[in-house]
Amino acid sequence: MWTDTTKKRAPHKPILLLAVLDLVSRGIILSPFIAVTSDLVELNELFNLYWRRIIPLGQTSSIAFPFSRLHNETFWELLPQPGREITPAAVNNITSVSQLRTLALGALMDEDLFRCMQQPDSRSALREALLLSCFSSEARAALEEQVGINADAYSYSLELEQKAHLPLVKETLEDDAYKPAARDQGFRRVVVATYDHRCALCGVRIITPEGHTVVDAAHIIPWSRSRNDEIRNGMALCKLCHWAFDEGMMGVSDDYNVITSRQIAANPNVPGFLLTLSGRGIIPPPDRDLWPAQQYLAEHRREWRL
Ligand SMILES: [Zn+2]
Repeated sequence: MWTDTTKKRAPHKPILLLAVLDLVSRGIILSPFIAVTSDLVELNELFNLYWRRIIPLGQTSSIAFPFSRLHNETFWELLPQPGREITPAAVNNITSVSQLRTLALGALMDEDLFRCMQQPDSRSALREALLLSCFSSEARAALEEQVGINADAYSYSLELEQKAHLPLVKETLEDDAYKPAARDQGFRRVVVATYDHRCALCGVRIITPEGHTVVDAAHIIPWSRSRNDEIRNGMALCKLCHWAFDEGMMGVSDDYNVITSRQIAANPNVPGFLLTLSGRGIIPPPDRDLWPAQQYLAEHRREWRL
């Protein structure tokens, strides 16, 4: 079933290891133990970014597969939940993160391997070895490009965090230092984290066991027009609120309350709960410096006559 792209072998394990290497380089994985009981959102997002580069659309996978099956390798050991036992049968039965969490606390990597992962030079060598042994030259090129995009996205997200504490920019930013894919990913990373995965307008917060979050990183003034990725030109919004905000059916008032358009009230097909949000306070980030900027919210209201 697997093609020459992945040298006729399942690519799950090397792809997971590429994502682990990224998190070690970001300083997010700081010890050889990776817990599955905590939040796997970032690991899952990186896994999916690599996966989508080389695997045909529609063919998805859970990180639970490689995370559990790596137990068969000498450098990766699943540690059981109290009272559970890691048997080959138990490992082979795992198809979802929920099942993985029932069985294991996480995985312990070999100490020497982890030390290698922490050094930039040996980390690159490890990555290179993984790419060479597991992928065709074409797939390798695509994955190498993704390694660069992920690294840039992370730097970009750190820059955006720093900028958020400076005065608002007057001029639009013309930032060609980053590829669009790195910008998108960096903006998303920082906005979703700033709002802790909660929709600023309706308050919904759902992260599935697989690490999928309900929110998008939305621009208040679209990037195509503003070229502005400041956190204060962003809000984390669920899919419905994102759409309604972009279509001008929802907005935010100058005292940070939700506004709904007359169109919503008049349309019998619009979910009624959107109307109940009208006049309710938005859910802003805890840090006041990171709240959506009034001048952008005002521009959005003017544009849609809200
Ligand atoms: Zn929402």
